[in-house]
Amino acid sequence: MNDSVYWCEQTWPESKAKVEAGAPVFLPLGSTEQHGHHMALGVDVVLPTEVCERVAREVGGLVLPAVPYGNRSQPRSGGGPGFPGTLNLSAQTFSLVVKDVICELFRQGVRRIVVVNGHYENLWPCVEGIELALDAIGRNQLGDLNILRMDHWEFARPETIAQIFPDGYPGIELEHASVLETSMMLAVRPDLVDLSRALHDGPAQFRPYDRFPVPPVEVPPSGVLSMTEGSTAEKGEWLFSDVVGRMVDIVRQEFQMGSLS
Ligand code: ZN
Ligand code: MN
Repeated sequence: MNDSVYWCEQTWPESKAKVEAGAPVFLPLGSTEQHGHHMALGVDVVLPTEVCERVAREVGGLVLPAVPYGNRSQPRSGGGPGFPGTLNLSAQTFSLVVKDVICELFRQGVRRIVVVNGHYENLWPCVEGIELALDAIGRNQLGDLNILRMDHWEFARPETIAQIFPDGYPGIELEHASVLETSMMLAVRPDLVDLSRALHDGPAQFRPYDRFPVPPVEVPPSGVLSMTEGSTAEKGEWLFSDVVGRMVDIVRQEFQMGSLS
């Protein structure tokens, strides 16, 4: 049996057999977005894909190709569209991609789906995509379809956050390209991180409202919304272990799966 968890590394008979055996299917949602001077544009793809891979290994799941473009980057959560390298989808397009992938999975007989988001701005368009899929399938045709939707950053334990931020947590919005993402990237793709290039011009001082068009002065020029000091691969592994451990428990419980041995 092919032991890869990646959907695209299966042959069609292998994917068919695993789906028929009830394998949960994981859909990582990412973005192509600036992450400061010190990290590559693909952070929001790398992190949820890695989370999905680790969880899928524990629960006998399969990981779909990540959606590589995200719903529009916003200044207060990702720096916004003013940064070179950031490539956005509109919310409508993003929702329709999520909807179509879920409808395709349903058509193929998949009934256990876990959507794992890695880009803040995807949250509501992703919910909309799931709702549109349920509408398209037909609310009374869903049978035993079960979809879980998660933002990976929600699964860090408060104790871990307190250990990482002894002086107080700036909040997830300001964590863009900051300690959490940088530490997790150091744990899994240190080749895509160069802390010596990090600039320290944050934390961002945002107004509690948005302005359109976005004034360019709003965001720290580095693109880092909070800070990178203190990022380590070890902290990244603490975060992965929280996120993966809790997601494994949730997936097993929600899908009523026994633990694999
Ligand atoms: Zn990010
Ligand atoms: Mn993002």
